[in-house]
Amino acid sequence: MTGSFRATDATGSAPASTNGAGGRAGANGGGHRTIDVLNPATNEIAGSVELSRSADVVDAVERARAAQVSWAARSYHDRARVLRRFHDLLLERSAGMLDVIQSESGKARRDAMTEVATLASTLRYYIHHGSGYLRSRRARGAAPLVTSARVSYRPIGVVGFITPWNYPLLLGVGDAVVALLAGNAVVIKPSETTPLSAVAARELLVEAGVDPDLVQLVHGPGSSVGSELMRHVDYVSFTGSTRTGRIVAQSAAARLIPCSLELGGKNPMIVTKDAKLEDAVWGLLNGAFPNSGQTCISVERAYIEDSVFDQFTDMLVRRVKHLELGWSTGWDLDMGSLISAEHAEHVEHMVEDAVAAGARVLTGGSRRLDLGEAYFAPTVLVDVPDDVALCREEVFGPVVALQRVSDVAEAIARANDTEYGLNASVWAGSSAQGSAIAERISAGSVGVNSTLLIYASHDVPMGGVKASGIGRRHAAAGIQRFTQAHSIVTSTPRYGGYESIGRLITTPKRAQWLIRLLRAWSRVPGVR
Ligand code: ADP
Repeated sequence: MTGSFRATDATGSAPASTNGAGGRAGANGGGHRTIDVLNPATNEIAGSVELSRSADVVDAVERARAAQVSWAARSYHDRARVLRRFHDLLLERSAGMLDVIQSESGKARRDAMTEVATLASTLRYYIHHGSGYLRSRRARGAAPLVTSARVSYRPIGVVGFITPWNYPLLLGVGDAVVALLAGNAVVIKPSETTPLSAVAARELLVEAGVDPDLVQLVHGPGSSVGSELMRHVDYVSFTGSTRTGRIVAQSAAARLIPCSLELGGKNPMIVTKDAKLEDAVWGLLNGAFPNSGQTCISVERAYIEDSVFDQFTDMLVRRVKHLELGWSTGWDLDMGSLISAEHAEHVEHMVEDAVAAGARVLTGGSRRLDLGEAYFAPTVLVDVPDDVALCREEVFGPVVALQRVSDVAEAIARANDTEYGLNASVWAGSSAQGSAIAERISAGSVGVNSTLLIYASHDVPMGGVKASGIGRRHAAAGIQRFTQAHSIVTSTPRYGGYESIGRLITTPKRAQWLIRLLRAWSRVPGVR
């Protein structure tokens, strides 16, 4: 997963700079270097941002920390009102936002729209349901009558976000808005390849009424700016590769700060012989090729029962051949470019290695140099040996390997035979049969009759098992992770409080009484 960016010294001839790093003009002084952002579909410069220095990162976190105090003091309802204005502005100005997303990623307009729509649904969900998850509530005390308990959720402080290039708007700010709702300040380091969507989103947040100091952006390579950010924030939310995720986890561990990591996937799809093939073919089409396959939850391998394999394959290949690629800011194309020429080359090498090991290309298989260096043809492969990289590592491109299996048990075993465990999907004769298969898949989420549905299913947790990550976005976990639980437990003060019970056990007989009491207690409804 490689992008490309160029750092240049800022001069009068540099493209207009979109500085989201400060929020105060001139606060960081002159002499900044800028990052030019390339549209990989057209090779044009889409814009630029200022490269943050270490001092800028420190400054951003400090100003965020100061602004967080009054933000946290406001009610959830009050904060939600501001974020609702952002939600409305995002939809009102969606055309401009789509242009920005496309210009820095080369993706098709429909793929950019997915980002806007999913960010809006994230906001809608937490604006309406987030307060319920953070409400201070009474809980069971240690012992009835003499004790009570209460828990509340306090914002963690300044949350740092390190985000990838594949969904520059949705992943750039989609988790950050949830942290804001929880009462935090945020400092985001978007991918250095695609920082412009986060800059545009920050402008809308400020227009919606968010204090500019509360939402900071810092820009630059992960190894310098990202690691500097991790030295100062109170929590790190990372989305990206498993390799970088391990580095982030180690930095968080060294400072003993919490983190969440949404990492790679090698997501399988299972098609049983009873599935309606037409639907399953559409399912794979919609699950493997959107965003040119550069989606952590997209389908990269499919296990299809032997008796329907040939028919399924023919139907799929026919449809894939009709996918239209190119650059357009209209709604007419199915796929744009990949993020960079380097990434397209990397995908091509993976396909070539698989072919050298015996795989057959049924369609696609190479770059579309007639369109540009970053375009890769949607690709369907068969006969891919299980041990080649294309079957084991994340390709992150429009490539799917179809595997013939003798029965459902084999499909499940091979689907689970991976170091990853992010997402999966099942197409079977009925939803009930699909759910039964889904129960046996080792992944954070499984879609039945659907592939990418989990990202829009805000009321259930989403995240990975095994090398696919730690922590969950969405639902209660998705907002509570940006808080610290604060528990207050209260006892009767008599004889020095609850602990005095221990001092009463002074004879074997009293110990026996306690044992009897404990045994009975676990059987009494209402207090057990
Ligand atoms: P990719 O290879 O697709 O760029 P990464 O996981 O390397 O995926 O990048 C995701 C995000 O992590 C980007 O914002 C990147 O700048 C950042 N990043 C990369 N390396 C590091 C690092 N060593 N420390 C912190 N952040 C990093």
